[in-house]
Amino acid sequence: MKNTICPKCNSEEIKKGVMAASVGQVHMYPEKNLSQKPSPISAEYCGNCGYIMSLYVETPKNLG
Ligand SMILES: [Zn+2]
Repeated sequence: MKNTICPKCNSEEIKKGVMAASVGQVHMYPEKNLSQKPSPISAEYCGNCGYIMSLYVETPKNLG
């Protein structure tokens, strides 16, 4: 288990979230194939100060 610490406030309270619009979740699409199945975008953020540690595509293999 990795021990992630917030670089801003040194809190260990790192949480996982998802990028969401008012309706549904924000997805990543391949630039040249918008009809392809997209992948959700997720994030890790600090539960103490709100600093976003990372953004990543949940299933990059979907994007081919
Ligand atoms: Zn923090």
